[in-house]
Amino acid sequence: MRTPVTIIGAGLGGLTLARVLHVHGIPVTVYEAEPSPTARSQGGMLDIHDYNGQLAVRAAGLMDEFHGLVLEGRQAMRVLDREGTVLLEKADDGTGGRPEVQRGELRQMLLDSLPADTVRWGHKVSGTRSLGEGRHEVTFAGGGTVATDLLVGADGAWSRVRPLLSTATPEYTGLSFVETYLYDADTRHPAAAKAVGGGSLMAHAPGRAIHAHRESGDTLHTYVLLPRPLEWFAAIAFTDAAAATARIAREFEGWAPELTALITDGDTPPVLRPHYALPIEHRWDRVPGVTLLGDAAHLTAPNGEGANLAMLDGAELGQALATHPDDVEAAFTAYERAMFPRSAEVAAEGVGSDELMFGDGAPHALVSAFTTFIGQEQTQ
Ligand SMILES: Cc1cc2nc3c(=O)[nH]c(=O)nc-3n(C[C@H](O)[C@H](O)[C@H](O)COP(=O)(O)OP(=O)(O)OC[C@H]3O[C@@H](n4cnc5c(N)ncnc54)[C@H](O)[C@@H]3O)c2cc1C
Repeated sequence: MRTPVTIIGAGLGGLTLARVLHVHGIPVTVYEAEPSPTARSQGGMLDIHDYNGQLAVRAAGLMDEFHGLVLEGRQAMRVLDREGTVLLEKADDGTGGRPEVQRGELRQMLLDSLPADTVRWGHKVSGTRSLGEGRHEVTFAGGGTVATDLLVGADGAWSRVRPLLSTATPEYTGLSFVETYLYDADTRHPAAAKAVGGGSLMAHAPGRAIHAHRESGDTLHTYVLLPRPLEWFAAIAFTDAAAATARIAREFEGWAPELTALITDGDTPPVLRPHYALPIEHRWDRVPGVTLLGDAAHLTAPNGEGANLAMLDGAELGQALATHPDDVEAAFTAYERAMFPRSAEVAAEGVGSDELMFGDGAPHALVSAFTTFIGQEQTQ
């Protein structure tokens, strides 16, 4: 390989690629906008699936470390109605194939597996341009450039590398989350803690839902799901935590108090997370010397697969580069040939789920879908 592989973005996808390349003895440098690994809270728990995310962990040679991060019992899940009645419950018997880990710990596991100088923190890419013959120049907001024969955009939803390959830009999906945390929930918020149970809770009604997870210890992490236009959220002053909380809680009037407590008793200000997506069939014609992975390539509406797919992309791209060390285009072509249909298929699975989650049949339509899914899992 002529130059080190240049990865933009030290998220789960970029770091998995860096680790797999390192395992194969291929030099790699990752440029990351954030100033340090701890600059930003990494968000909540992720379930890492045996059919994608765990394959990546295995390719990275980190299965033992991964098992050490798994939070026991968190695969338990229940679906409730707005009165707090449990309509469906699945215990965690340890065979679910979707162990839960804290995202920050998973990222740290990957960082710890790389030589110390692999990630260059505080390098926010402001632009990229072709130098011809498969070479590209990357410009950093703080000054400076690098030129590379082998550029990978792992820089998420608003990728600065993507324009080299595609004119597509993410569009709002129509769904936003509002995020809250309750700390020391077993003692400070016992009713909410009891409602969530040992794993996760989903409470649905037409046009709204509450999803909550028991994270490490007894922290409850909640996403309030609201399918509303961006203008609806723009009318709420999220800078005024109390007013924003009250406005969001109004959408859940009449719900069981142990469920609304997940909103009203938040120990952190509510954070708005609007969701954007690229077109489902997003792909590009091969451009020598550059490719994308993870959200940069196939940002989708939230479906529980994004981090898993980003890691699998990283692992497969790393393996393809190791298989074709002297032919980057063969490696990129092989990687994209598998990645394009895989991500399109996952994105397409989400189409129509709005009706299931938020339609007039909620929450019973969702319960039927889960019952079918659990039945299929058990017969496999
Ligand atoms: C609220 C929410 C909940 C989610 N829950 C789940 C879940 O339960 N399961 C699941 O599988 N997925 C989930 N996802 C999706 C998942 O978070 C993403 O699909 C995944 O993080 C994509 O990984 P990535 O490495 O491609 O990008 P990212 O994780 O976005 O990482 C990109 C990295 O690039 C850096 N970067 C960005 N721009 C630049 C730049 N200009 N220069 C340099 N660096 C840059 C960023 O700082 C970041 O470190 C969730 C997403 C959201 C928003």
